[in-house]
Order: sequence, then C-alpha cells, then structure tokens
Amino acid sequence: MQHPLRLSRRETLRRLAALAVAGGAFDGSTAAVAAGKAEIMTVQGSIPAGRLGVALPHEHVMSTFGEEPRYEPGYDEAQLLGQVVPILKSVKALGCRALFDCTAAYFGRDVRLLRKISEQTGLHIVTNTGYYGAADDRYVPPHAFEETAEQLAGRWVKEWKEGIDGTGIRPGFVKLAVDAGPLSEIDAKLIRAGALTHLATGLTLAVHTANNPGAVKEQLDILKRTGVHPGAWIWVHAHQVAHPDDVLAAAGQGAWISFDGVRVGQEGENGQPGTILKHLVLLKEMQKRGLLGQVLLSHDGNSFSVGKDTVRPCDALFTTLLPTLEADGFSRKEIDGLVKDNPQKAFTVRIRKR
Ligand SMILES: [Zn+2]
Repeated sequence: MQHPLRLSRRETLRRLAALAVAGGAFDGSTAAVAAGKAEIMTVQGSIPAGRLGVALPHEHVMSTFGEEPRYEPGYDEAQLLGQVVPILKSVKALGCRALFDCTAAYFGRDVRLLRKISEQTGLHIVTNTGYYGAADDRYVPPHAFEETAEQLAGRWVKEWKEGIDGTGIRPGFVKLAVDAGPLSEIDAKLIRAGALTHLATGLTLAVHTANNPGAVKEQLDILKRTGVHPGAWIWVHAHQVAHPDDVLAAAGQGAWISFDGVRVGQEGENGQPGTILKHLVLLKEMQKRGLLGQVLLSHDGNSFSVGKDTVRPCDALFTTLLPTLEADGFSRKEIDGLVKDNPQKAFTVRIRKR
C-alpha cells in the first residue's frame, strides 16, 4: 500500500517549486537562479560566482562536534571571536578569499556569528542547510526519523527561501553525511531529501561519505531516481579512499571529488599523520586521467572546537600543498583551477537535472 504521505515525484516537485517561489524578501535571488545567473550565496548575501576567489570548500569555522547534540550552540562569543578572527585573517593573508563552513545544525551551526566573522575578516563565508547523518545519527534531530523526505526538504527549502532562524542569512549549499557501510534508512532518506531540495533551490549537496564507494553508488542511484545530475553532488572526504581508482566511477559521471583533509607532517587530531604525499599521489592520478576539473581541495580544519584544546589548522594548502604541486610541475592554470575555478563551479547555485 502506498504511504499516504508519499507524493508522486511530479507532485513533490510542484509543491517544492511553489514553496521556493512563494514570496518574501528573497525572491530576487530565486529569480536569479531561475534566470541562470551564476551566483553563490554567502552569509552576507548573494555574490556573482566570479567574485568568489580562492576558496576552501570544506572547513569548520567552529563546532560543538563531540558534545551533546543541541540546536543552540551557546558559544562564548567574545572568546570565539578572539580565537577565530586572527586565525582566519592569517589564512586570508596567505591568499584565501572564501570559506565554506560545513558545521551543520545540531553540532554548532551559528549563522549570526558566521556573518559577524565574515564582516570582521573580509572573507566570504558560506553556510549550509541539511542534517549530518554520520556519527551513528547522533546529530540527526528526532523529527527527521518521523518525517518524510519531502517534509525534510520542505524545511531546508524554507531556510533557503526565508533565511535561517529569522536572520535573513541563507544557506549556500546542503550539508549531509552518511555512516559507514550500506546506507541506513535514515541516511537514504536524508540523501533523497537533499536531492529534492536541490531540485527546488539549485543548492549543491556536500555529503560526508569518506572511504565508502558502495555508499557513493547508492547515493548516485538515489540522485538518478530523483532526477538530479551527479554534478550537483560532492563526495566529501574522498581522500580517505584506499586507492585513487575508487573515485573514478563517480568522477566519470560528473560528481565532485573532495580531497579535503590536507595536513602537514606532524600528527593531527585523531592521530592522523600528514597527508601531503597522499594528496600529491591522488592529484597526479586525477591529472593523468584529465579529471582535475572535478577536484576540490580543503583542510576540514576547525578554528574553534568546543570541548577540545586543539585547533585543526586551515593553512597547509597554501604553505605546503600548493608549493609541492608547483615543484612537481603542475601549471599555474591547473593550480588556479583547483583552488579558484572548481569551488566556484561546484557551488554556483543552479539546478542540475539529469
Ligand atoms: Zn568536516
């Protein structure tokens, strides 16, 4: 028997489209998306994609990850700004212009603080909508288990349409995450909700997937059934794969491949060693196969982590990895493509149907 809440795909799209254009102060940008204007949505509003500049597509400005899930993070604002602003200013001095904050709701998203930090640093900062289904669903709110994918998409589309929590700040992408192994029921639902949100908003899906090529295939199948092109989807933490070949099938379909754990020599958090050589190997493989145009690079840094003494830095790309690539013969054009053109293309708000 068909579930009474399960809508046909056509009806779902109709309702989501109606929701997306239903009025309010932010119609301009929805119209811009419909008109195919290349824009990226930052916490200070929409900017032409060409103005983004060198960007880090997967970082955490701050988070409460590891703590009990809560919607209001309750940061000590003065302490946070005192720590984060100098760190991000120093990254800006290295050439960074934009940063995508991947801290989702329930483990520390605070868009009002992100806007303040963007104003104080002069960096473009982009925030997200969506739920984090990894960490054994710890940060998935109870309502997500009860509601349908359509209802969840409705919540996320509403954040796009109206802004988050009355701030007027709108998400620039959908952040999702899945656990290890085959997709659980809740993880599959979150992915479908993300795909529906994409069709209504044009927001790109960045999905924490790590070394799980099986879950990649399952996710791309869900996108296919929902009518979303793989080019609207980012494989987050793809640098964790056992072999470069593992990313080829997804890249071949047009998916974005995010090698986002760049770290220098010393042992980082979780005892992870530096990754410069691994990144070099992965990038050379992608270069050889003509796939550099689909790669994103970042640190998965964290400048303010509640409950932890350490900061995960977000500067090794500039201080170490890019000079390593240059010394290895990567051209200026290839390097610019990786840090400038690719993030711009990946996060331009536009609907990508199959
Ligand atoms: Zn992350």
